[in-house]
Amino acid sequence: MAYIGTPQTLTVPRQGSNGAPPALPEAAVTGADPLLLSDAIGPARAGVLDTTLHRSSEALAGRRIIDVNSTLNGGGVAEMLHRLQRYSRGAGLDARWFTLRGDPAFFALTKQLHHFLHGADASGPPLDRAGAEHYAAVCEANARALLRAVRPGDVVTLHDPQTAGLVAHLRRAGARVIWRCHVGTDDPNPYTDRAWAFLRPWLETADAYVFSRERYIPGWLAGRRVAVIQPSIDPLSAKNRPLASSVAAAILSRVGLRAPVDGDGPALYRRGDGFVGRIRRAPTCLCSASPPPADAPLILQVSRWDPLKDMVGVLASFAEAGGSLDGAHLALVGPDVTGVTDDPEGGRVYAECEALWHRLPDRVRTRAHLACLPMADAEENAVIVNALQRSASVVTQKSLAEGFGLTVTEAMWKGSPVVASAVGGIRDQIMHGVNGILLDDPSDGLSFAAHASGLVGDRHRAGALGVGARHRVRENFLDDRQLLQRTSLYRSVARV
Ligand code: UDP
Repeated sequence: MAYIGTPQTLTVPRQGSNGAPPALPEAAVTGADPLLLSDAIGPARAGVLDTTLHRSSEALAGRRIIDVNSTLNGGGVAEMLHRLQRYSRGAGLDARWFTLRGDPAFFALTKQLHHFLHGADASGPPLDRAGAEHYAAVCEANARALLRAVRPGDVVTLHDPQTAGLVAHLRRAGARVIWRCHVGTDDPNPYTDRAWAFLRPWLETADAYVFSRERYIPGWLAGRRVAVIQPSIDPLSAKNRPLASSVAAAILSRVGLRAPVDGDGPALYRRGDGFVGRIRRAPTCLCSASPPPADAPLILQVSRWDPLKDMVGVLASFAEAGGSLDGAHLALVGPDVTGVTDDPEGGRVYAECEALWHRLPDRVRTRAHLACLPMADAEENAVIVNALQRSASVVTQKSLAEGFGLTVTEAMWKGSPVVASAVGGIRDQIMHGVNGILLDDPSDGLSFAAHASGLVGDRHRAGALGVGARHRVRENFLDDRQLLQRTSLYRSVARV
């Protein structure tokens, strides 16, 4: 689920100068009081969260609660871990978050596993003996580095296929190990079988397993401790906190996705540390004839440049829509693809979109915009995404497969009407016609365009869907629910 890396993910750890493996990169996360969530979830829910987390931190005293994934920035897992770590630390848990390192061959192989777990074909490296040996070597090196921070009894959650090879090493060292898989498909097929054939031997000894949907749980886990925990968002994060429409407009103008108008203010926002931030960086790539007029309806998809997100398909559908979307503009927005280390496909998918953009007829090309957002400052990136999701007339997620789809949750929380594919975890979020629109066939570009244009043309209906969407997220997909589920699982595997 998270494959955009920071430069430190490029190298496999080697011996340090004193013979010990160097420690893994650790995220510096500041704790936050769970009661801060009171405004968003109400004092009763916040109180339950606060009490439960504090009790759990007493029960788990002396144990580290560790998350391990492959990147600090980009993608849904990193997005969630920042927040979950914050509130866990704020409640007194000794929560730590490490990212593993790998080389391009390792990440090409784990991306292949990611596609296979989604039931999708991919043109990555074969899952053969040489691949398995390289995977084993990288995981072993990472495990040795991680073990510098892990003690017997600690509870370690390993995220996604990149980390499966660490399970046995950590178990042998006395840690309790949870393996969490953020991807999957409702309909297992020969590709999922191949992924599980590769991963299963690494996973056998884990204490517990977590999936985002019940249907993602493979049959071979029958009789084991398996939990279903859906992802969630933090209403107070830079990505999701309220943003005045004038500020959102100024931010969009700053990044070239809205034409400036007289009276626009500066692109300033309040940072998490209380200081005022300014949007300083422009998109690292921007493919746009000129910015959308300030009053033009904007259709938006924000996602990684991953083939399964179908950015190319969204652009093609917009082009094929003909007159029905004539007044609207389309923005396809994703993270910077330069310097990407653990998503080997990002550059290629962006290049495909760009090539299609150049081939579009003028009347469509002038209304289509591609942008890669800078990742150097995670908070700046998040505020830009926030401004986009709030300002869009319609947010789309036309994925061909989706583990959960936090971009859908984020847009729904902002009350934006969403048109998204009826795949994976998106089906758990959107109730068709009540709080969004589900596309039965994600490859049906005409139906996609018809739904999008229907909402652009009917602001009353779009508004009603947005109200339903925000309610749905408030009740089901905010971080308090996930924090309670996670700590309950920690206590169960630690037997305290
Ligand atoms: N995202 C972002 N900047 C971007 C593109 C995506 O912050 O330029 C975030 C997006 O807002 C969401 C996450 O990356 O929080 C993507 O999570 P999702 O579950 O939708 O998909 P994944 O990438 O994990 O498959």
